[in-house]
Amino acid sequence: MTDETPSGLSRRSMLKLAAGTAAGVALAGQAQAQPENLPTIPDEATGRPFPEAELQMPLPPGERLGWCVVGLGSFALNQVIPAIARSQTARLTALVSGNADKAARVAEHYGVPDAAIYDYENFDEIADNDDIDVVYIVLPNGLHAEYTIRAFEAGKHVMCEKPMANTVEECRQMIAASERADKKLMIAYRAHFEPHNERALQMKEDGEFGDVKMVLASTMRTLDLSRPRDEWRVLRDLAGGGSTMDIGIYALNGALYFLGETPTALVASIANPPDDVRFREVEDMLTAQLTFPSGALVNLASAYTLNENRIQLLGTEGTGLLDPATSYSGNELRQTGPDVGTRIVPVSEPAARQFTGEIDHLSRAVMEDFEPRTPGAMGLRDVGLIMAMYASAERNAWVTLNPDGTMAEG
Ligand code: NAD
Repeated sequence: MTDETPSGLSRRSMLKLAAGTAAGVALAGQAQAQPENLPTIPDEATGRPFPEAELQMPLPPGERLGWCVVGLGSFALNQVIPAIARSQTARLTALVSGNADKAARVAEHYGVPDAAIYDYENFDEIADNDDIDVVYIVLPNGLHAEYTIRAFEAGKHVMCEKPMANTVEECRQMIAASERADKKLMIAYRAHFEPHNERALQMKEDGEFGDVKMVLASTMRTLDLSRPRDEWRVLRDLAGGGSTMDIGIYALNGALYFLGETPTALVASIANPPDDVRFREVEDMLTAQLTFPSGALVNLASAYTLNENRIQLLGTEGTGLLDPATSYSGNELRQTGPDVGTRIVPVSEPAARQFTGEIDHLSRAVMEDFEPRTPGAMGLRDVGLIMAMYASAERNAWVTLNPDGTMAEG
């Protein structure tokens, strides 16, 4: 029991207010002594001591890490760079772009010096810029490996967008480069920092759904060739695959972080609409079934011609439904169970915290020297699993998996 009243005011606040109101009425009539339950404001109130901080304080500018953004496309300009500006630990100190005019405009807007604007040819000169600690790769997937490795060779830490790379071999080379440079590598799986997903994971770990034995996860969006950002996504060399590499990866990664284990086998099917120019090189729809050591099952669905974004956790004592699960904003978590019926689980922080959350997480991993929550090995695992799904669909057969998520040969 708490002493919360229906208005949300505590009983003690209500009493204070009531006393204040009564005193106000009385004072209007005649001078009265100050009631003893009104606070007395000390003479030195204008110079109060430091208040207790309820949130982690942002670092002062001089203590923040310098972040360099590579690729000034849609996601970088609309999400990544504004999130760096809102973060607690990062400062935008450099830009890399093939378009000098665009880079100059962004630099002026965010206060990045002209000398810290690079292009793809002189990119390696970032090694001489001590104001760059972390490089954030926001390029088409097929370029992630090259620029991640070059950033490590320049002595920087790296945040790399999902999917980590086009192939497992590239992922291995990126991890090896990170180890050679002794610098952190994090894959930008923002949903790990999204408040509704964090809450659902906490509820699952607290046993609120019972034993979660099945996850049904579908992440889909319409691929629209009229948008420049979708043009490279239909080319295998730049995209590495279709909807599964781009959007289905959220369903996969989410199912695995909710279950906390790696599958041992999977089977997948792919279907493409005939004569649709978008799907000459990459897939439209994919469904997959994954089996796990615990006996859990996962069903995944991904598509570029449908729209869905939900992850459902099915437990012995109830379900958790994230729908939408991984949007930039407006995510929702619903719990169903015998004791609660169906309820929307209140989550106080906005979904937008996912972007600043991942940036602050890597900054702190660098400053405090810990392994990021979404490391290179996780990116490799997911690329390995997607490649296994493609192989399964092509062979029309189950494939077995290694502990790192890659396909067991044979
Ligand atoms: P985009 O096309 O808008 O941006 C890509 C940028 O790379 C452009 O500025 C483009 O000029 C530049 N570029 C450099 N070399 C290029 C080349 N050879 N071909 C094409 N473009 C080249 O794409 P985007 O949507 O911003 O995606 C960029 C990355 O961010 C991708 O890896 C994508 O998966 C990822 N992404 C992640 C999220 C997320 O929620 N985490 C959302 C969107 C995109």
